[in-house]
Amino acid sequence: MIYVHVPFCHRKCTYCAFYSKVESGKWKVESYVDALLKEMEVRKGEQAHPIKTVYFGGGTPSILPVDQLTRIVEGLHRCFDLSQVEEMTLEANPEDLTPDYLSALRRLGFNRLSIGVQSLDDRVLRMLNRRHTAQQALEAVEAAHRAGFENISVDFIFGLPEISTFNFQLSTLVTHVSAYALTVEPGTALAVQVEQGRVTLPDEDEVVRQYHELHRLFEAAGFRQYEVSNYARPGYESKHNSRYWDRTPYLGLGPAAHSFDGKHRRWNVSDVAAYTKVLNDLKALKDPKDLSQEETLTATDAYNELLMTALRTVRGLPVSAVPEEEKKKLQPYLDCSWLVLQDGFYRPTPEGLLHADGMAASLFV
Ligand code: SF4
Repeated sequence: MIYVHVPFCHRKCTYCAFYSKVESGKWKVESYVDALLKEMEVRKGEQAHPIKTVYFGGGTPSILPVDQLTRIVEGLHRCFDLSQVEEMTLEANPEDLTPDYLSALRRLGFNRLSIGVQSLDDRVLRMLNRRHTAQQALEAVEAAHRAGFENISVDFIFGLPEISTFNFQLSTLVTHVSAYALTVEPGTALAVQVEQGRVTLPDEDEVVRQYHELHRLFEAAGFRQYEVSNYARPGYESKHNSRYWDRTPYLGLGPAAHSFDGKHRRWNVSDVAAYTKVLNDLKALKDPKDLSQEETLTATDAYNELLMTALRTVRGLPVSAVPEEEKKKLQPYLDCSWLVLQDGFYRPTPEGLLHADGMAASLFV
């Protein structure tokens, strides 16, 4: 599978701690695409496994004009065998999804959209510094549907002063929903607003109440939870994300992108200026460390990563992956019904999913 990181955004959302730059001119985007094409050339021999999914994430991939997106997709076809790709996703913000842009995405082979709706409350959207209104988000989803996208995911945020609504109109058009709890990351505008008392966020009990409320709304609308933050109509689980959780090797292209070959994790320099400089003056070919760093995962790292990902999924942790001497550590979670043993898996219950990260951390070796 291939991940392409697009590090640009129209403007910064108050809560965002991802690596992204506010887009500052056509030439910067062009020079990033030039560098990305060179990275594909340098790394084209690396993907040994059949490529089943391609995912453009960000940042805001839909910020890319059609001509630049076309150059990237053509570059991928030149350097990699995409004949077995089943799912090709683009993360998009609602305001970018014009009918012309959507048709171009279809022509380029995208068959799944992940749209950053975040909330259907305009006050909340303004507070988060989103550029779109709730109405624009709904219209974007409708336009995507009309353009022929039948696999559409929407992102929601909860843990806000008021619960985000999830309405019937939206639920009939989408196949997948991701819901993330708002977290206050150091260095973000939100952290400053909270510190200065300009924004008051709900306490933990209220966040948990909202989680249960959204869970109820999603399930009532026909979505099934398959990971802590992800719900899908049957058969529409994200193939790309499910493969991350299965620890399938992947190739990450672009600044700050991570790659995994089954034994090593590699991460590209997380600075778009350094990334483009290294690749556009071809120094990367002489010294790969200028482009990325790498660590070799030990058996312990691999097991801990498995705990972190598997316990967040409803499928759970394979009993066969747990060393005999570690099994007793799982017993208390079976006793308190956060886990059940089923079909050779330790499966988290709904309550267990809510505590997945803490449970995994307590089981680390
Ligand atoms: S659009 Fe996404 S990546 Fe960009 S600032 Fe907002 S949350 Fe961050």
